[in-house]
Amino acid sequence: MPDVPNDAICLFDLDGTLADYDGAMRREFDKLTGVGGDAKGREALRRLISHQPGFWRNLPPYKPGFNILRVARALGFECHVLTKGPRAYSPAWAEKLDWCRTHVPDLNITISQKKSLVYGKVLVDDWPGYYKPWLQVRPRGLVVVPAHAWNDGECDHPNIVRYDGTNTAEVRRRMIAAVESAR
Ligand SMILES: [Mg+2]
Repeated sequence: MPDVPNDAICLFDLDGTLADYDGAMRREFDKLTGVGGDAKGREALRRLISHQPGFWRNLPPYKPGFNILRVARALGFECHVLTKGPRAYSPAWAEKLDWCRTHVPDLNITISQKKSLVYGKVLVDDWPGYYKPWLQVRPRGLVVVPAHAWNDGECDHPNIVRYDGTNTAEVRRRMIAAVESAR
């Protein structure tokens, strides 16, 4: 018997959660050192890198996200990918789909402009600008946050658990509790 009912939904973000966007961006950025300059130049460079054909499709899997996915699957959650489609660059939408077919072929995919529209018992996401609005409309939901520098100090909420690679048992316990409290 699974630990949770199999209609309990667990949503997984891609970039910074299942896919190593930041690592890939840093590597490409370093190749072009000296071009960046000021903040505006760095932003333009980041856009240029992320608009290279194949950038999204070839992102390496991000191990902490896959650790959480393994826990969710073992508990019996119905897992979905929930990722944002960049408004200004439609090829990324197709490449995200290709990435999922390669790395998580059994997961359904929702590409959304607004993650808080999408229902789930659990959301796994690294970006405060996405998981905070989601939690606001799902006060009984649980957010699991793969630890990154940008979410340090952004997890001080009873329904948020930050995963730093060492607290897998805590994450598992919180995911079970999230389903039980909603029954
Ligand atoms: Mg993300």
